[in-house]
Amino acid sequence: MVTRVVIGDIPVDVVLKDIRNIHLSVHPPAGRVRLSAPVGMDIDTLRLYAISRLGWIKKQQRKLRGQERETPREYLNRESHYLWGKRYLLKIVEREAPSAVDVQHSAILLYIRPDASQEKKQSLLDAWYRKQLKAAIPDLIALWEKRVGVRVNEFGIKKMKTKWGTCNPDARRIWVNLELAKKPKECLEYIVVHEMVHLLEHHHNERFIALMDDMLPKWHSLRDDLNRLPVKHEEWEY
Ligand SMILES: [Zn+2]
Repeated sequence: MVTRVVIGDIPVDVVLKDIRNIHLSVHPPAGRVRLSAPVGMDIDTLRLYAISRLGWIKKQQRKLRGQERETPREYLNRESHYLWGKRYLLKIVEREAPSAVDVQHSAILLYIRPDASQEKKQSLLDAWYRKQLKAAIPDLIALWEKRVGVRVNEFGIKKMKTKWGTCNPDARRIWVNLELAKKPKECLEYIVVHEMVHLLEHHHNERFIALMDDMLPKWHSLRDDLNRLPVKHEEWEY
């Protein structure tokens, strides 16, 4: 017998069968949750058990989703690539002319010489993503300088494996992760605001959280969106 219970927003399939112990598992690819339990156990007990393991369940689901997204790109025709949270299909246009990138409808067009390597295609797209961020960030900084009441001297974009953003409060310089060009623009805004608030408060303490709550009340959900992805901003413990 399979019963479905919902814990928070996570559906859990409960299977009662001839076993001695409760067994909880999270399955690829989508992170489906299954709870096997001995026949005769009551559903409220199982629900409480699942709630007590919610942190573990979410962690397993994040891992699976991370694996899914970390599949390396091969820069082939019709491969999915993202810009500002929207999915595009890559279209490789081979030509004997300087390379270029363009967006048309739902396609990212990569104009490139026929003998171009995968590395060349990647560096071309990376440079294009960098250009998108460079174009978007100054307006965000200008807007938030007024709201936060700080001045940013300089910003940079770089590839980072473990952080979405970072800042140097003394130099008043902020850095954002190149990958943010692929996420919804609101996520970029959250990281820019987060790093700018660090110019007022270096640590993730109560003052920092109060400032963020005041400036950008929905920052929690934007952070959760980003943390569902393999790159995490920082170690968040609350
Ligand atoms: Zn931070």
